[in-house]
Amino acid sequence: MSALKFLVPGEISREEFDAVNIEIHDVAPGVLMLVGLGGNIGVSYGEDATFMVDGQFGPLTEKIFSAIASRTRKPVQFVLNTHWHLDHVAANERLADHGVTILAHENVRVRLSVEQVLPAFGQTVPARPEKALPSVTFTKDMSLHWNGDLVEIFHAPNAHTDGDTLVHFHEGNVIHMSDTYFNGMYPLIDIDCGGSIDGMIAVAEEVLVRSNQSTKIIPGHGPLSSQSELAAYRDMLVTVRDAVTALIQDGKTLAETVAARPTASLDVDWAGGVLEPDTFVAHIYNCLTKSTGP
Ligand SMILES: [Zn+2]
Repeated sequence: MSALKFLVPGEISREEFDAVNIEIHDVAPGVLMLVGLGGNIGVSYGEDATFMVDGQFGPLTEKIFSAIASRTRKPVQFVLNTHWHLDHVAANERLADHGVTILAHENVRVRLSVEQVLPAFGQTVPARPEKALPSVTFTKDMSLHWNGDLVEIFHAPNAHTDGDTLVHFHEGNVIHMSDTYFNGMYPLIDIDCGGSIDGMIAVAEEVLVRSNQSTKIIPGHGPLSSQSELAAYRDMLVTVRDAVTALIQDGKTLAETVAARPTASLDVDWAGGVLEPDTFVAHIYNCLTKSTGP
């Protein structure tokens, strides 16, 4: 299923939700990755509080809570929205009904508050109701001293969107990158909402510095990952950005740039995910030629 479909939950049928099984990955002591439908969920549990990083869709909330209950009896107290895309945050209303407090970067609350028009994806996403909006917001970084860990929450400016938040579990040696990292595939960059290829490369660089060979990296989409796989992803992003930049400097139009197939040598490894190579190249081209910056 395309990730683009995930932006509008109404397009997903009851049967599709019913068919979802929540996979549980024990990433580190007290840290889980849950895979269902939509962005990968992170969970921290222990003596202080159960804390989720993203929540997927409301119709999956009971299954997600059951998965978490297999590891801890403490109910979920907080959820962090890593960015505004609904395949990560559509469950907010349902979670609020369960008394879960919603945290997010200020830009996430702003984008969820009003209709989002996305020409790059041909979609319009309606404003969310008040109950679905994050009630605790921050503008840069925040640290939680919970469950025996230092959990550092930090903003990556203008990467996948303008509100991306990453979560670094220092003791567990786990970093949740959300949609700044699509493992093994060309990523979606929401250039209509402040995303940029340079921001995507910058956050990959930052995580490579923060991590080591033992670090477990949770991507927004795709399987649990590692520093070496992230380095390969960073290299791919740099290669495509530089190839598209060279074509732009040669005066090529969008159509000519796509036709030149600048990703041809990479497609065997990176195509076949959520974006066709031509779409990915078009997004990079539009990002690099935007007259107004993000
Ligand atoms: Zn996203």
